[in-house]
Amino acid sequence: MLAQHSEIIIQCPVCQAESKRLFQKEYYWIRQCNFCKHQFLEDAVNAKHVETVYGDEYFNEGGTGYPGYLREADLIRAHGRRYANLLSKYMTPGKVLDIGSAAGFILQGLVQSGWQGVGIEPNESMATYGREKLGLDIRIGSFEQIEPESRFDLVNMVQVIPHFWDLQQALETAARVTKPGGYWLIETWNHNSRLAKLFGKNWHEYSPPSVLRWFSYRDLDLLAEHHGFQKIARGQPQKWISGAHIKSLVGHKLDTIRWFKHFKIFLNIIPDNLRLPYPSEDLFWVLYQKI
Ligand SMILES: [Zn+2]
Repeated sequence: MLAQHSEIIIQCPVCQAESKRLFQKEYYWIRQCNFCKHQFLEDAVNAKHVETVYGDEYFNEGGTGYPGYLREADLIRAHGRRYANLLSKYMTPGKVLDIGSAAGFILQGLVQSGWQGVGIEPNESMATYGREKLGLDIRIGSFEQIEPESRFDLVNMVQVIPHFWDLQQALETAARVTKPGGYWLIETWNHNSRLAKLFGKNWHEYSPPSVLRWFSYRDLDLLAEHHGFQKIARGQPQKWISGAHIKSLVGHKLDTIRWFKHFKIFLNIIPDNLRLPYPSEDLFWVLYQKI
């Protein structure tokens, strides 16, 4: 009966069209929508997923997460300031809700640029760091389970949308807490990019179960339209990452590709504190406005 599992009808979480199995990665099947080409994990996950996957080790022990998230503070804060600069072309700073804030460095970058912010973060250690060390208002929990009482000019979703375990519910809430005429800023990975296609199954973002879904321009636009938002602008972020993060990411990938294991030794010559421009061809941001 197992062989027939692929014939089970599983609707696309974005457009509800039928989907088919694409490939298997580390015991997980990744499916693709026949219509909008959205890709998603076949197995449904629930709230428990957040606790298991985004524990402290996700931020500290490398692999598919971060080798030492707090050490990346300056780079991430600068990323937040770059986004504030980009947003200033479209709006004046107001109230921002930052979903999946981690320790709050992106939020801090926005606050330093004149925004008033509230963050939401499921990892308690990260949220506590942001509250105690950075003086930010970060609530602990997953966005599917808490709804802030205020309304916001901007809902910031940088590197968070592939991690929502209940996509539609999370975005319904995000839409509800956005003021009329307010904005969503979404940054995510592009499964339709040249890099993703080049690496295929070995593309770094195919790392279930911490990543649950993979977008491209079309399915993300469809999803936003479904929630009453229209695209204002789109681009690729200028991004810098540390030598330590590159080593961790690439090292983890090399472990999974048998033939490349020997190349790992060359990674060690990269200093941890080196800042490297990230070739972000497989990453994009989109600004949407509530209609
Ligand atoms: Zn679809």
